Amino acid sequence: MKIKKLFAEKKVVFSLEVFPPRNDVPIEDIYQTLDELQDIDPDYISVTYGAGGGLNKNRTVEISSLLKEKYGIESLAHLTCINSTRKTLNQILDNLKAKNIENILALRGDHPDDGKEIGDYTYAYQLVDHIKQKGDFGIAAACYPEGHLESDSLEEDLIHLKQKVDHGVDYLITQMFFENELFYKFRDKAAAKGIDVPIEAGIMPVINKRQVSRIIELSDAYLPKKFTKILDKYGDNDQALRDAGIAYAVEQIVDLIASDVDGIHLYTMNNPYVAKKIKAAVGSLIDYINVEKAD
Ligand code: FAD
Repeated sequence: MKIKKLFAEKKVVFSLEVFPPRNDVPIEDIYQTLDELQDIDPDYISVTYGAGGGLNKNRTVEISSLLKEKYGIESLAHLTCINSTRKTLNQILDNLKAKNIENILALRGDHPDDGKEIGDYTYAYQLVDHIKQKGDFGIAAACYPEGHLESDSLEEDLIHLKQKVDHGVDYLITQMFFENELFYKFRDKAAAKGIDVPIEAGIMPVINKRQVSRIIELSDAYLPKKFTKILDKYGDNDQALRDAGIAYAVEQIVDLIASDVDGIHLYTMNNPYVAKKIKAAVGSLIDYINVEKAD
């Protein structure tokens, strides 16, 4: 099923993200995580590609297929194009097609640390074009409520986002953010630019202090005072920070749903405990809103 259909049917789509285990551990390592995530009954699960060392690229296809075949859950396979040739991407797209995977998150990817790029692509919209030429896939793309790190301004980034969407993107998933007001401003500006596809909010529950420096490195996300207060207070107490991080994410989600968000994409970090707690807190609210729409 094409995921864009879900946005037409539901008021709020609820999805999860997992990352594949490294190639040097058995793929079965992720089974328990997926077993537990299945209990949450997400609308779909996305599978990252090559993030964190580039060791797990083939596994994205494998796990996306496993989700559909073994778990009966729709999947969204992430795919990056930077440092890739058309030939390599053709092989992956053929493989995705052969495995009956219908949805791709088309990403550029980050520049390699050594600065040596050998690929045929510069931006994600070129990957969108390529995917469309290769087959009938549903296509999602990334967006950045606070602007992408390489852009001089949010305005400039939005011009590029509009271009990317116009090349054939069905819906967008945001980078993580911790201040909903920034998301609402972004959403208004995107609408003013004529970006009219659904935008799913990417929510990252912060459950340990180490995550925070990584978040800043990846996204430079603004951390509101109420968030840094939690870190200062509970940063050295793993269990307290985990509980506070879950509560913070729940508060964000409740406010987003009240503000008519199209969907919530939970960065699970392969932690089913956290994902379960969050779904337990917001699941009936989402059901209620979706029943309202169906009526
Ligand atoms: P693009 O849309 O190409 O944008 C990149 C930059 O180029 C932006 O600054 C944009 O404004 C600019 N730009 C775009 N078009 C033009 C143009 N025509 N002219 C000039 N400038 C332009 N990375 C991974 O490696 N694996 C993953 O699985 C992964 N999953 C992700 C999931 C989500 C939801 C998000 C938000 C990010 C994910 N990333 C992942 C990170 C992503 O690859 C990086 O953020 C990357 O730096 C940008 O990718 P993009 O697809 O947004 O790029």
